[in-house]
Amino acid sequence: MSDLSVQLETPTAGKYTQPTGLFINNEFVKGVDGKTFEVINPTTEEVITSVHEATEKDVDIAVAAARKAFEGPWRKETPENRGRYLNNLANLFEKNLDLLAAVESLDNGKAISMAKVDISMCAGCLRYYGGWADKIEGKVIDTTPDTFNYVRKEPIGVCGQIIPWNFPLLMWAWKIGPAIACGNTIVLKSAEQTPLGALVAASLIKEAGFPPGVINIISGFGKVAGAAIASHMDVDKVAFTGSTVVGRQIMKAAAGSNLKKVTLELGGKSPNIVFEDADIDNAISWVNFGIFFNHGQCCCAGSRIYVQESIYDTFVQKFKERASKNVVGDPFAKDTFQGPQVSQVQFDRIMSYIKQGKEAGAKVEIGGERKGDKGYFIEPTIFSNVTEDMKIVQEEIFGPVCSISKFKDKEDAIRVGNSTTYGLAAAVHTKNLNTAIEVSNALKAGTAYNTLHHQMPFGGFKESGIGRELGEAALDNYTQTKTVSIRLGDALFG
Ligand code: ADP
Repeated sequence: MSDLSVQLETPTAGKYTQPTGLFINNEFVKGVDGKTFEVINPTTEEVITSVHEATEKDVDIAVAAARKAFEGPWRKETPENRGRYLNNLANLFEKNLDLLAAVESLDNGKAISMAKVDISMCAGCLRYYGGWADKIEGKVIDTTPDTFNYVRKEPIGVCGQIIPWNFPLLMWAWKIGPAIACGNTIVLKSAEQTPLGALVAASLIKEAGFPPGVINIISGFGKVAGAAIASHMDVDKVAFTGSTVVGRQIMKAAAGSNLKKVTLELGGKSPNIVFEDADIDNAISWVNFGIFFNHGQCCCAGSRIYVQESIYDTFVQKFKERASKNVVGDPFAKDTFQGPQVSQVQFDRIMSYIKQGKEAGAKVEIGGERKGDKGYFIEPTIFSNVTEDMKIVQEEIFGPVCSISKFKDKEDAIRVGNSTTYGLAAAVHTKNLNTAIEVSNALKAGTAYNTLHHQMPFGGFKESGIGRELGEAALDNYTQTKTVSIRLGDALFG
């Protein structure tokens, strides 16, 4: 590894320069402690390269840079220019789409066709929030004739953003877009499993026009750099996407430090409900995509499938046939739908859930095994004969594994649909509009499956999170309200 970059190659985008440093103040730098960590290719289990690791000291430096930018030039920047820079960044994502997608496939293992969609969605998201930058408006509130009151929407300040590995660049864009639109500055930590895309994207920030210190991107471990962000006394807000376990730790760290604002986008165990009057082939396509998209590594994966009794047997048979056609293999192959799981840890976790399911008496309809002997590949797995108390039905597996069972009627569907502690996503398949609306209104879930769009709010009920990302709703996470009152008449108390 040269000091701050390395030459790498991908099958679809050829040779490129991979930055490896921490991106602070618009420059790539080494970590203070000189530590690095290895990045593993999940397809081959081999080391791709090493990147510099941020420790608490680097978090301090990045936060100081973000603070200086926030209190200085960034505060005076016009909303129009904030929008311009986000638009420039969106354009650069599009210009570099093939490279960014290839880096995602290399680092995360996602199929190249899906990675390309991710990158155009990143561009869409950044551009969308570029559009919001000059539309964040306050209000005038009339109370008495002798006061003039107005409400401003002000940025929160320095935002710590901690993102996961399942959509490395999409999460990067979801976090950066609204925070910048509202005038904040950022210290973003990528996931330790997938730091490469975040660093290539960081190399576009300066070119997009952002002043130094506005967006800082660091690589590092959750327990070190992530924890340092969550407990930092000069970080005004932390936005986290990841597991519910870590979400709780982030809240505790915020509570135990400076009560920074917290938004959390956490896990799920989401129901996909198919009524007997649904178009069965159409429903199967959605159900298949709902669970197996991104190798099941989606917080909004539809991992609990409920089918009305009368069509259950036909559905299971057809669903098995459909899922068996999902092409699992080399992420760089054109037709691949499902690549490897992201890491050995995730692979082991998923395989242990599969083992538990088998031991608990669930029936493996298809899959249930590792695929091949190299890379973290797992066969798409469908369990039937499950009961609601089984771990595979209650806990988030975060892999290509689902359970399928029957329900009787609408009330039963709503009961099972709401029967976990999570509340992220849900879907209802029926041709009856009344059933669709009645059941979806009754389900305690914040969103639908993998129909993500930057214009639509995304986030969870119950233990699936706090706050909403995307859409206009995300702006609430990144602004605070200031009420100003001007006395027009004589002083009130003489
Ligand atoms: P997963 O279990 O799927 O790897 P995590 O919730 O552990 O997901 O990780 C999501 C993100 O949270 C990653 O960037 C990770 O480094 C970070 N993280 C993990 N533990 C902590 C922690 N204690 N404090 C702050 N961030 C953390």
